[in-house]
Amino acid sequence: MAVCDVCGNDYRLSFEVHAAGAVHTFDSFECAIHLMAPVCEHCGCKVIGHGMEADGHFFCCASCARHAGLDSAAELSDHAGVDPS
Ligand SMILES: [Zn+2]
Ligand SMILES: [Zn+2]
Repeated sequence: MAVCDVCGNDYRLSFEVHAAGAVHTFDSFECAIHLMAPVCEHCGCKVIGHGMEADGHFFCCASCARHAGLDSAAELSDHAGVDPS
């Protein structure tokens, strides 16, 4: 049993997310997304997939990054920089 950081629900299936040295407790992915997901700087949607990041700016997709004038956006992924071949 643990209390959700976002909505305060005390739920037996709550889970913790460890990120950037902080630990958050959530009762649902919806609450986790609400608190933690970056927001696309072009269209304003929550980035819940890999998304794009460039110079500390977050975007939901390459199209939004290009609309914001960024051509060098790299895919947000733990495979970034790894040659898939
Ligand atoms: Zn919650
Ligand atoms: Zn977007």
